[in-house]
Amino acid sequence: MDLYEHQARDLFERHGIVVPAAEVTDSPRRAREIARRLGGRVVVKAQVKTGGRGKAGGVKLAADPAAAELTARQILGMDIKGHTVGTVMLARPVDIDSEFYVSYVLDRAAGRFLAIASAEGGTEIEEVAATRPEAVARVPIDLAEGVTSAKAAEIAAAGGLPPQTVDVLVRLWQVLVREDALLVEVNPLVRTPRGQLVALDGKVTLDDNAAFRHARWGGDSTGPTDPLEAAAAAKGLHYVRLDGEVGVIGNGAGLVMSTLDVVAGCGARPANFLDIGGGASARIMADGLSVVLSDPAVKSVLVNVFGGITACDAVAEGIVRALDTVRLTRPLVVRLDGNNAAEGRAVLDAHRHPLVEQATTMDGAARRAAHLATTA
Ligand code: GDP
Ligand code: MN
Repeated sequence: MDLYEHQARDLFERHGIVVPAAEVTDSPRRAREIARRLGGRVVVKAQVKTGGRGKAGGVKLAADPAAAELTARQILGMDIKGHTVGTVMLARPVDIDSEFYVSYVLDRAAGRFLAIASAEGGTEIEEVAATRPEAVARVPIDLAEGVTSAKAAEIAAAGGLPPQTVDVLVRLWQVLVREDALLVEVNPLVRTPRGQLVALDGKVTLDDNAAFRHARWGGDSTGPTDPLEAAAAAKGLHYVRLDGEVGVIGNGAGLVMSTLDVVAGCGARPANFLDIGGGASARIMADGLSVVLSDPAVKSVLVNVFGGITACDAVAEGIVRALDTVRLTRPLVVRLDGNNAAEGRAVLDAHRHPLVEQATTMDGAARRAAHLATTA
């Protein structure tokens, strides 16, 4: 579960990290009152669970309460990378001398946590990491040892951060451990002209598996943050968005995961994981297809079904009926095997659709879908 910036800010504050005075609202009029309380000048910040808000126009300085109201009105309702801005945070502005980047992140491949630190924080950090990786230090953390002052000094030195960041680095680790987070990121951690360190932006991902020991986690922030994933979850579908171009629909998590691998093996990238489960009714097929096709990145769709308890002809009927309600705009490759596969193929053959084709093997189907996606 990802937190909003204002929630991360509150967690940091609770663990003794200095953050700007700030309040959240969904109303421009209240934004004006908050700005007045905070001293007039404020930074108005879109609260969406995605980065790059500054570059998207979601972080703006307002000179006085009237400007804060106007700016809040502009930012509320704005779309930032598919996320609609529902609330803004108004923060007392901080003068910046330097911007640093610090985070602790779970390195799943290595099975441990990493500290990432750079003296070149701010909105260009991805660019820095891509073009000059040596400017971004990555320090593995021994979980048994954690981040002691000595370890924090090592991280600071590796990232070129001033020694005074040691205290923040230790506290940030305490946030991760005590709050059961998988990621804590501060970008930028700023040094003011007077030498104070302030966490100006925060990103925290909590470990959902630890929800049982955090009663106050409840509330609005549970559930998927990707808009398509949220739409799929609302329909009861197990859908995870990925970053490729071949939409994948299958029955059973194991089969779907293998399908992702086979698609990747064919030189294309899966656009999603979608398991329609055991009973692939027409409604589930239609819901699944419409979710997958709502992703503009999808260039072809691969339906891979192995009939077991659910017979392939029932799945085929589901696909045919789904095509009555969903306008198919990209090619669909269907592979049916297992229980009643021949009957299922006959159903699809009988309802010829110019964008639907069949394949008899999983490899053949993946190759065809990958080809259609990469030549589209
Ligand atoms: P992001 O773009 O989503 O990462 O949003 P941030 O909260 O990090 O804000 C983007 C950038 O706006 C920061 O890197 C700062 O350079 C700038 N910024 C944000 N808050 C302040 C502030 O209080 N004072 C100043 N001077 N700049 C700020
Ligand atoms: Mn930031």
